[in-house]
Amino acid sequence: MGKSEGNLALLQILQDTGVGKSSIVCRFVQDHFDHNISPTIGASFMTKTVPCGNELHKFLIWDTAGQERFHSLAPMYYRGSAAAVIVYDITKQDSFHTLKKWVKELKEHGPENIVMAIAGNKCDLSDIREVPIKDAKEYAESIGAIVVETSAKNAVNIEELFQGISRQIPPLDPHENGNNGAIKLGKQTSQTGRRCC
Ligand code: GDP
Repeated sequence: MGKSEGNLALLQILQDTGVGKSSIVCRFVQDHFDHNISPTIGASFMTKTVPCGNELHKFLIWDTAGQERFHSLAPMYYRGSAAAVIVYDITKQDSFHTLKKWVKELKEHGPENIVMAIAGNKCDLSDIREVPIKDAKEYAESIGAIVVETSAKNAVNIEELFQGISRQIPPLDPHENGNNGAIKLGKQTSQTGRRCC
């Protein structure tokens, strides 16, 4: 029997510019990597449906611009989200520090049960790594987040990142549709994208 039901989950991807947020979304949605990807202005939106057990999970992904001048927009997107991916660049210690600030903000102002996933991106550049994986794992454990090192460039662990999130988004009570940024889906919908490719 085909997969015909599932959840619709709003997901927010967060961090300052340059860590590879848009590249991760682009790799996940369109299996494409663009070396000259243009910076996000404001926010961009993409969707992708993935199988999760016997169900389908449709992600509605907001990729918000990381620049300081757009920071105030981020709460508009993460407040209604079931999950958030916070990205850092494994070759930039500063980005790991900033990640902690985003996590703090999410904990203070985000939905109570938001699923948090940390992506240590650019793991293809591990020869110039500044952030040990051990640090990321310890930190993720301390805040109850999923953690994985990814490479949007080489398509490493991108599917796994979103599969891990899918598994953690709680099944919905049909009488409480949408209360955690997730909605019951009646049938599979196609994937669409914007910005890259
Ligand atoms: P954003 O500002 O966080 O959305 O980051 P972008 O997706 O625009 O990427 C910033 C830069 O990092 C671009 O030059 C990308 O080509 C590069 N980049 C993104 N992901 C990777 C990766 O996994 N490996 C490498 N080596 N470069 C990456």
